Amino acid sequence: MAEAEAHGIVIVGGGICGLATALALHRKGIPSLVLEKSRSLRADGAGIGVHANGWRALEQLGVAAELRETAQLITVYHDVWQQGDKTSREKVPVRMELRCLNRKDLIEALAKDIPAGAIRFGCRVAAVAADPGGGHGAVLTMADGTAMKAKVLIGCEGTYSAVARYLGLSPVRTIPRPVLRGFTWYPHGHSFDTEFLRLRVGGFFIGRLTITDNLVHFFVTMPKQPTGTYARDLFI
Ligand SMILES: Cc1cc2nc3c(=O)[nH]c(=O)nc-3n(C[C@H](O)[C@H](O)[C@H](O)COP(=O)(O)OP(=O)(O)OC[C@H]3O[C@@H](n4cnc5c(N)ncnc54)[C@H](O)[C@@H]3O)c2cc1C
Repeated sequence: MAEAEAHGIVIVGGGICGLATALALHRKGIPSLVLEKSRSLRADGAGIGVHANGWRALEQLGVAAELRETAQLITVYHDVWQQGDKTSREKVPVRMELRCLNRKDLIEALAKDIPAGAIRFGCRVAAVAADPGGGHGAVLTMADGTAMKAKVLIGCEGTYSAVARYLGLSPVRTIPRPVLRGFTWYPHGHSFDTEFLRLRVGGFFIGRLTITDNLVHFFVTMPKQPTGTYARDLFI
């Protein structure tokens, strides 16, 4: 049988957390390998709100300045709550930095400085076990049956994490509320304020954030679904 490939630090999942972790290590001169099940960078999705703590992390990663160029500052939370005939409204200033990024810009900014070859695509981790030899920390089995050893294993693969299962973490609880997310493009500019509109009406939660003078992100969180149905994010 062929000897399993052995690595120092292996990160499972090339989403926001996996790429940010690999970039942080790279900035400190520490190599790592990201395993991503998708065949290419998953730079799809819609908008993602980044608050002050996120901007501090992006600053440390050296990508905050370029990302600030892509998204304007959100200055106001605008809450509208419609209950029967009554509508209440409140506007509260945003005290710290909040911007809504296009997820694609964020993913691409994180990925572009990670050295070539340090992200391996089309590589789905199916199972994790302790190294029986004891020399390496963990043995990963890929969906194609190949094995890899990792001295340090970092799980960043989101909801159904093989690493979390291996560590014995409790299963994820999903919220049965589908979310629809998308962008609206206004070729001649929109007329919205730089606000995060949060509208609650009849079990729906609707959000709208401006990204640039032309681009607006919206999401609609649907009412709670009956038990047994799954919460899903839909992107349009
Ligand atoms: C394609 C996509 C689009 C999204 N769009 C939005 C959005 O528009 N707005 C928003 O607010 N949030 C969005 N999200 C969710 C958001 O990215 C995450 O909730 C959040 O950023 C946490 O990041 P994460 O890195 O932990 O997880 P994720 O961003 O979900 O990344 C996890 C990565 O791990 C990979 N992966 C999963 N299992 C395995 C495995 N077994 N082996 C190898 N790789 C694996 C996945 O392909 C994925 O790339 C999106 C997520 C994805 C994957």
